[in-house]
Amino acid sequence: MQGLNSKVIIITGASSGIGKATAQLMAAQGNKVVLGARREDRLRDLAAEIVQAGGEAVFLKTDVASYASMQELARFAMNRYGRIDVLVNNAGIMPLSMLNELKVDEWDQMIDVNIKGGLYGIAAVLPVMRQQQFGHIVHVSSVAGYQVSPTSSVYSATKMAVRAIAEGLRQEESPASRIRSTLISPGLTETELADGITTPEIKAMVGQMNQVAISPDSIARAIAFAVNEPEDTGVNEIIIRPTVQP
Ligand code: NDP
Repeated sequence: MQGLNSKVIIITGASSGIGKATAQLMAAQGNKVVLGARREDRLRDLAAEIVQAGGEAVFLKTDVASYASMQELARFAMNRYGRIDVLVNNAGIMPLSMLNELKVDEWDQMIDVNIKGGLYGIAAVLPVMRQQQFGHIVHVSSVAGYQVSPTSSVYSATKMAVRAIAEGLRQEESPASRIRSTLISPGLTETELADGITTPEIKAMVGQMNQVAISPDSIARAIAFAVNEPEDTGVNEIIIRPTVQP
């Protein structure tokens, strides 16, 4: 399918939720999507669905918490298409807990996936984008990157870090190399994100809150808006949440 766009777009966390919706939309708009996540079967099904609909998609099993794996994903995209126009650093986890539960392993995992995963993504594509003198990195943060509530300390910290990195990248790269940096901060969105919460009461509480969640398609449209703006226009930041979310 050749639409108005034919960008090469790497999307991490494409096996479900926001990443999957973004892949479906960007492919439907005529872009070539390169799907990364750990659940290969999900990626295979999604790529097949996109191709079946006349789009272009390839996939590679990827663990964003591994720099080598992210580098492999970038190389895979380059070997296939010879350029990388956009990276959507979307993969993330949210095992919320109170600090006094001392779920240190989950703190480590959030830091590894949400912060280091995004940094590894930047490291994997930045040399290519600098060489090309164009590129766009979209970072998925959260409204939790602007506010802390009980149980969200570590998750919010990781999402605040994502904001800092997105803004630093913009300041460093956009004026010099024209590489764009966009921060997308969703509110409650209907995905599998809360499945990773291991404290039953917290999981139930988030389940209640999620009754007002919006579709991941809404977030995908925000990402597509930023990507589809002309090269001279940098969409720096979008906060998008359910109308009724405080
Ligand atoms: P999902 O749980 O549906 O999707 C998360 C995705 O991240 C999955 O595709 C998962 O794939 C992937 N992922 C997790 N760990 C890794 C890893 N180590 N390596 C590669 N991929 C990984 O949730 P969402 O779609 O909601 O989450 C997407 C982003 O949106 C996250 O960054 C999240 O923090 C953010 N967000 C979500 C909100 C919401 O309400 N849903 C609100 C605000 C922000 P796999 O398990 O196959 O590896």
